[in-house]
Amino acid sequence: MKINLAAQARAAGVKADRITMQAIEPTTAQEKDLARLYVAIVRVWANGAKERILPAYSRSLAEQRASDGLTIDRAGDVEVEIEAVESEAVRSIFTFRGLFQAWADTLQRWHMSKVISQLSYATNVDLSTQMHAGDVQETMEDVVARNVALVRNVSDQTRGRIADIVFRGLQSRTPAREVAKEINAALQLGRKRSLRIAMDQTQKLSASLDRDRQLQLGMKKFEWVHSGKIHYRPEHLARNGKVIPWNSEIGKKDPPGFQPFCGCKAKGVLEL
Ligand SMILES: [Zn+2]
Repeated sequence: MKINLAAQARAAGVKADRITMQAIEPTTAQEKDLARLYVAIVRVWANGAKERILPAYSRSLAEQRASDGLTIDRAGDVEVEIEAVESEAVRSIFTFRGLFQAWADTLQRWHMSKVISQLSYATNVDLSTQMHAGDVQETMEDVVARNVALVRNVSDQTRGRIADIVFRGLQSRTPAREVAKEINAALQLGRKRSLRIAMDQTQKLSASLDRDRQLQLGMKKFEWVHSGKIHYRPEHLARNGKVIPWNSEIGKKDPPGFQPFCGCKAKGVLEL
């Protein structure tokens, strides 16, 4: 629901001709909470590798040795165990969906309360009964779908790496100890990627909420705040401090926080 904040602020006696919001920065704790959800999927593979895949690998290797000279394909047993871990991973992706929704909902409520408290201070308008979680439903649905796809991808990638390691290992008869090391390295990559995704997705959700709420409140422009990140985009740095309309090319196609790992923020500008 659109809110005519400018009219309400004038009615409340605000004399300024422009109000600029402060950037709403998600916290590291919020990011870590999300990272935990992603890492849980990698843990399914870590446990599965330890309890199922590696023991099957060792057995297959021993049988391969016992039947030396004969080319018996022992990959089947390992494959069965990988499938079993995959089923567990699929179940945990269902769990992820629910937990992610709860995480995103908490972030959304936190963001909304920040907007409400900032603006009630700046404009004397009480937005607490005017803003609702349902206003940003589309963004919330998008972000759930996107993150479920991402976690599935993390799982698939981890599975692919592990399968590659064990099948290659069986072919070259690599000792189980070596294979375990390689699997650990693969799991470590999965954990690192989980952390990067969590950072990026926290930023993306908060950036989408910034835009949704600003547009809802009739803020047609925003002030660009550069992230100050080490690996920044020069064109984003050049926009620092500039006031940009949401319906401009930049506002529509490359707003703050939408590109991968962009940490820039939009400060809403309300013209009265
Ligand atoms: Zn940026």
